[in-house]
Amino acid sequence: MTVTELLSYDAALAAYDPVMGLEVHVELGTKTKMFCGCSTELGADANSQTCPTCLGLPGSLPVVNAIGVESAVKIGLALNCEIAEWCRFARKNYFYPDMPKNFQTSQYDEPIAFNGYLDVQLEDGEIFRVEIERAHMEEDTGKSTHIGGATGRIHGASHSLLDYNRAGIPLIEIVTKPIEGAGERAPEVAKAYVAELRELIRALGVSEARMDKGQMRCDVNLSLRPHGTTVFGTRSETKNVNSLRSVERAARFEIQRHAAVLQSGGTIVQETRHFHEDDGSTTSGRIKDNAEDYRYFPEPDLVPVAPSRAWVEELRAGLPELPRVRRNRLREEWGVSEHDMQSILNAGAVDLIVATTDAGAPADQARKWWMGELARSANEAGVSLDELAITPAQVARVSALVASGDLNDKLARQVIEGVLAGEGDPDEVVEKRGLKVVSDEGALGTAVDEAIASNAAIADKIRGGKVAAVGALVGAVMKATRGQADAARVKELILERLGVSEG
Ligand SMILES: [Zn+2]
Repeated sequence: MTVTELLSYDAALAAYDPVMGLEVHVELGTKTKMFCGCSTELGADANSQTCPTCLGLPGSLPVVNAIGVESAVKIGLALNCEIAEWCRFARKNYFYPDMPKNFQTSQYDEPIAFNGYLDVQLEDGEIFRVEIERAHMEEDTGKSTHIGGATGRIHGASHSLLDYNRAGIPLIEIVTKPIEGAGERAPEVAKAYVAELRELIRALGVSEARMDKGQMRCDVNLSLRPHGTTVFGTRSETKNVNSLRSVERAARFEIQRHAAVLQSGGTIVQETRHFHEDDGSTTSGRIKDNAEDYRYFPEPDLVPVAPSRAWVEELRAGLPELPRVRRNRLREEWGVSEHDMQSILNAGAVDLIVATTDAGAPADQARKWWMGELARSANEAGVSLDELAITPAQVARVSALVASGDLNDKLARQVIEGVLAGEGDPDEVVEKRGLKVVSDEGALGTAVDEAIASNAAIADKIRGGKVAAVGALVGAVMKATRGQADAARVKELILERLGVSEG
């Protein structure tokens, strides 16, 4: 890889304002493809989910997937867009082996949704409004696998394999207006926007939006212009960035690269670029085609889409609570700070905590377990919280056992450890491991008497006024009861026996 000249981030921002445009493709979670009845299930044998329509065979006719249109309208409404009263599909003509029809069925000058916005929350709580140009419907292409090259790219490959199972899967492309005024926070805004959009898509239930599975991918357009100027600079387009962190890194890298080129008197080439996960760099792809080259024209085989106003209003009324609104509501209900809420969000714990409170646990307890003990376990195992072998209902049960005094915190941690190890439900683990707070005063009293008798010197010190020494005796009792006593009660009993008051 050739070394790319970069200007330091601070120097780049001292001279230029970044302008971004983000294009996000979302694969919809429909059961069938956008224009035929083929399954969209992942993981099937190559080319087993194809038909004459999605293979573009002569004489085949497409039919629009109603759920695809409904999903597009829902996304448009959630992004505060206007919904077209009438719009058409268009053919985007170009040749590529993974696209058997030699055109992609897309939308051109008549998108189904346009002119909206999405408010995104930055890490310090500031709200940044990203304006939406359009959201349109289209179809995915097939998948090429290049064999023989070192990098998996076509260069150096001996041959390529094509799988058309993905060809025709519904996509929604969401395009922002130019994002200006973010300054040094541009990469953070890009990341926050994609994160917010992902949550929104999931809340709408139209896609799982798993970036690691390619169900959501982002193209990052970036240009720089000198401070105080308004004309846009030439942009580069970093394609198919597929994680939140990568979106941020790609924007940051391009800001530094553009700045270095401009400062040295060079010109930016309008091109697509590839992002490299390993070092966060981008490299040149192809010189960008202008839109005219695609010879768009209205798709003659599909009827126009004309969503009735009544139906659109029905969908609007059925929209779920939006993620940012929900987060703020939960933050207030739980009484946590902006910063703590951000940590909960980053840990992927919001829904788990909600489910745990739904199962009867107080919010502070639900939060304590998921963000404490369980977060540590997940971290150690290198998995996400929702991949742990414990359910919110089980966490709620542990919390209830602590509240009723059957378990103390220490024992509760052992119960959780047992559940995670597959020993069964909390009650089964309690049973099998014999974990129960010793609350029988008789048994506790005996243990206390024994501790005093075998530590006579310490007992004398306490009688003589060194109350702080009581810790040693409490420790002895806890050890004798294998940690299953209530430490506060043990302390009370010891002081009572020795006739000492704590004050
Ligand atoms: Zn098909």
